[in-house]
Amino acid sequence: MATTTRSTCPYCGVGCGVLIEHQGGHITGVRGDPEHPANFGRLCSKGSTLHLSARPELAQATRLLHPQWRSARGQPPQAMAWEPALDLAASRIASTVRQHGPDAVGVYVSGQLLTEDYYVFNKLVKGVLGSNQIDSNSRLCMSSAVVGYKRTLGADAPPPCYEDLELAQTLFIVGSNTAWAHPVLFRRIEDARAARPDLRLIVADPRRTDTAACADLHLALQPGTDVALLHGLLHIMLQEGWVDRAYIAAHTSGFEALEAIVRAHTPAHTARLCGLQQADLLTAARWLAGLDAPAPAGTPAAAASAATAPVFSGRDGRRRRPTLSLYCQGLNQSSNGSANNAALIHLHLATGQIGQAGAGPFSLTGQPNAMGGREVGAMANLLSAHRDLANPAHRAEVAQLWGLPSVPEQAGRSAVEMFQAAAEGAVKVLWIVCTNPAQSLPDQSMVRGALERAEFVIVQEAFAHTATTAYADLLLPAATWGEKEGTVTNSERCISRVRRAVPAPLHPDHAQDGPRPDWVIARDLAQRLEALLHPQPGAQRRIHFDYPTPEAVWNEHRQSTCGRDLDISGLSYALLERAGPQQWPLPKGQSRGLKRLYADGRFPTADGKARFAALAYRPPHETCDAAYPLALNTGRLRDQWHGMSRTGLLGRLFGHAPEPVLQMHPQDMARSNLADGALVSVQSARGRIVLPLQACAELGPGQVFLPMHWGSDCLGGRTLAGQPLLGVNALSSPAYCPASKQPELKHAAVRVEPV
Ligand code: SF4
Repeated sequence: MATTTRSTCPYCGVGCGVLIEHQGGHITGVRGDPEHPANFGRLCSKGSTLHLSARPELAQATRLLHPQWRSARGQPPQAMAWEPALDLAASRIASTVRQHGPDAVGVYVSGQLLTEDYYVFNKLVKGVLGSNQIDSNSRLCMSSAVVGYKRTLGADAPPPCYEDLELAQTLFIVGSNTAWAHPVLFRRIEDARAARPDLRLIVADPRRTDTAACADLHLALQPGTDVALLHGLLHIMLQEGWVDRAYIAAHTSGFEALEAIVRAHTPAHTARLCGLQQADLLTAARWLAGLDAPAPAGTPAAAASAATAPVFSGRDGRRRRPTLSLYCQGLNQSSNGSANNAALIHLHLATGQIGQAGAGPFSLTGQPNAMGGREVGAMANLLSAHRDLANPAHRAEVAQLWGLPSVPEQAGRSAVEMFQAAAEGAVKVLWIVCTNPAQSLPDQSMVRGALERAEFVIVQEAFAHTATTAYADLLLPAATWGEKEGTVTNSERCISRVRRAVPAPLHPDHAQDGPRPDWVIARDLAQRLEALLHPQPGAQRRIHFDYPTPEAVWNEHRQSTCGRDLDISGLSYALLERAGPQQWPLPKGQSRGLKRLYADGRFPTADGKARFAALAYRPPHETCDAAYPLALNTGRLRDQWHGMSRTGLLGRLFGHAPEPVLQMHPQDMARSNLADGALVSVQSARGRIVLPLQACAELGPGQVFLPMHWGSDCLGGRTLAGQPLLGVNALSSPAYCPASKQPELKHAAVRVEPV
């Protein structure tokens, strides 16, 4: 008789609820949870095949099932028991800290960790090692959104909720192929448009993706011109008198400086720079402002919308129809990522389209728990519960919470900087948790050089054969989805429980040393490191790691949020059990979370006002030229996830796209005399890969596109035409946004030649 355990999908930031069916300690099926507010029972192709990736017969071949170490690089790893493995890790980290200082240890974690895992890692690095040298692969995903929110709204908090998808009049999707990357949300959008045919969809994307193909208006802008487009739209709103001057005066500051910048972004200038039609810019600005009349009475659209047509009264007294913007890596993964985010939020502030039902700027989270990591502050420049590293009062609060005299002030290195420092010899120990930098970080020759140069590499992983495990001196096996307990936060600030349905699989010869939850590994190492590095702690040092359960970690985390913008002091495991997933904030005394933020026009800034950021348009870091004439764009496929550690195990998920191909516009192919299906060499200033070519008119001339999922190791070291396949990050640029330090994974200058 199968048992059902309620949990959450481990893939994207939609955060769908799942029901795991299991029997005899094995997962036998998965269904969408009809009661979960993110998906109401729906799952996409990835979520609905989760149980197949957990088949017991796969585990022995694909999972890391016991600790292992290498006596020398290049040697096969040897089995080790947990206790000596933890002792070895602790002694190598402690001796490095003593010899070279705490900045010589870099801890690189993941947006796929649970909040409880993240909390323990953050406390370990900042509280025990005494540095901020911890960063997350969320740096590649959401850090531009974090800076965008903080710079304009004062806090890293997405204001809307999923329900706003159904309440908006206009949806503006920018830099997101939502239909593939957040499929269950897109089904919700399709349903909403079927119910209200006048719900309009604008998509800004250089490619005609499946999302763009559904749009009423597709703005196929030139790559990297997002700020120019968004400034151009604001220019039109100003010119046409569509902004809400009363809202701007009452609830914002800094508009004059921005106004001076956008003055130059005339429709003619914007159309030329972005490669768009002026008429389309005018239509987009009009729809986004929400001042245009509803569908004419008597038309089918008006009849269908009559019952639910949303309208709100602006601060200036004008009736507006709400606009919801959805955005993702197209804005974030850019050397102008934080400016892209701010420029989009400006449109909402200038028109008062925020805090209202159906309105607001809404960043879609790439990973399942990038939000949770931000909440606990587990990044190089963040502190617990949205506190600021640079604020002495905030540091003192965290020190007191953790039982320490102080916590370090100096920001640590971001993801790319951490590996650059390792490549230069400044970082001696790398501890990599639940992520695969030897495939996913830009500029792979630098990253792989860093992994080779580091004196000791610890890889804490669920899967045995990632690109990064090949570089590990010590491998620590981690439990994964279906085997561990905790919480995650999805894109709409909604916290859901992740539950253990089955025990982690065991190796028959090492059954006593099986995979452990990430927070347990971090806790046990933290206890050892505390004893080694602080043998005589003194009265002021009372830091502890004696958590018996993930709930104990959660309770300490929620206590740390008391009085903060994300206050979840009222959100116990018991309440999550009783009432189901909840949005933050949910302070003590409340029984439900808050759907949307800033309804009262007050923002978490010193003066309570949102801020316009006077940021000018800058082109991408790397310019296309005669040597590298094409702009390389990258992105997800519908049925794969990240480096395919899990989805790559399932044959049925390859039906959609069996192998990586380079997409190129037919005009460019004709000009270079390249044939569809031919093997081509793609070269950037950093590397070269060889793969098949595919004609594609869905992107513009001068652009090429590669999916992000493949690396050499996913293909078992397979080569094409004698060239190793290193995947898209052999080519990508390590240039990053100066404010968010998020790398520009969406743009590199390349050339394509026949092989
Ligand atoms: Fe999982 Fe995202 Fe698919 Fe939902 S939409 S089932 S969270 S991958």
